[in-house]
Amino acid sequence: MFSQPDRAGFMPFAQLPSLVSRLSALGYRCLGPTRENGAIVMRELESPADLPRGLQAEQAPGHYRLTSDPHNRYFAWSNGPQAIKPLSFAPQESLWRVERDEAGSLRFAAVLPAADKQAIIGVRACDLAALALQDAHFLRAGRRDPHYARRREQLFLVAVQCAEPASTCFCASTGDGPTPTAGYDLALAELADGFVAVAGSDKGDAVLKTLSLAPATSRQIEAARQQGAAAAAAQTRRLPGRNLRDALMSRLEHPRWDEVAARCLACGNCTAVCPTCFCHAEIDEPALNGQASRHERIWDSCFGESHGHLHGFNVRPDIRSRYRQWLTHKLATWHDQFGRSGCVGCGRCIAWCPVGIDLTEETAALIEGGQP
Ligand code: SF4
Ligand code: SF4
Repeated sequence: MFSQPDRAGFMPFAQLPSLVSRLSALGYRCLGPTRENGAIVMRELESPADLPRGLQAEQAPGHYRLTSDPHNRYFAWSNGPQAIKPLSFAPQESLWRVERDEAGSLRFAAVLPAADKQAIIGVRACDLAALALQDAHFLRAGRRDPHYARRREQLFLVAVQCAEPASTCFCASTGDGPTPTAGYDLALAELADGFVAVAGSDKGDAVLKTLSLAPATSRQIEAARQQGAAAAAAQTRRLPGRNLRDALMSRLEHPRWDEVAARCLACGNCTAVCPTCFCHAEIDEPALNGQASRHERIWDSCFGESHGHLHGFNVRPDIRSRYRQWLTHKLATWHDQFGRSGCVGCGRCIAWCPVGIDLTEETAALIEGGQP
């Protein structure tokens, strides 16, 4: 976000309401982080007073607690259980419906989402990287998903640099954070008295110009740069490399898969919180009168029994094969599909796993432990 420092502005905290009201005036529904049920989740913002100022998110394997931020910052928390995913790839939605008309013929119709314009404030660098991966899947040439595309087109993304990574974060090792580098409309870096603000798109530039910010000073830009470097250096978790395809695919019979399967509950929490997972199931919901039916898409998980069910048998009948499927797809065969790993280092699957399984630890045990 600091590639064109001469175009950076400085937004004092007192001007944050102007950003929210400007986006609202442009017709955006403003969403941002709020405190709810002990976690930070994206909800509609009435004003910056709804932001979780003064909070941090303490995270560890199987652990997430909100704590106080001694510096009373707006964005001192690292991330919550949600990324952008639920806002672009809905957890459940109708794809089409069918009705029987008076003559008894069936009439099929596509159902497309209304998709309001949505501005999301507080998007993290890992979330932007995950959104780029979801785009690669849902918007690929010849297979463009109209439901995803309609929501995606309506997003205005206000990214925020991470200054306080959680112990579960490892975006520096995947190359996806903690400073946003691409994919945002606006990006903010929070300092003691305001934000260094830069635009990343024409839409963002237009909004920034209306705020009439003073140019950021070289000292402010350097402080933001150093803050990002310090946040990267503070991360203690890592993956053993960015392309683990061959290393993992040559260890499909490693005994570690049995060890992790003995702990894994196959609950699917990791896939639900993962911002890059895109598996879904499709079901039909017929009306009781037999005159209509809706075809629904719902999030699915490769940890579920039905996910591997094919023509009367299950290709992944046990937890060992499901965990292996998840990890090797995410970190190995994703390279074949999308040219990179499917992990952006957000650490959500570590914090929200009820038994604290840590994919960085599992990967290290599989790879750094050597071939058995
Ligand atoms: S790894 Fe953890 S979160 Fe994922 S399915 Fe197993 S127990 Fe659930
Ligand atoms: S695999 Fe885990 S750390 Fe990687 S992107 Fe998904 S939730 Fe985040």
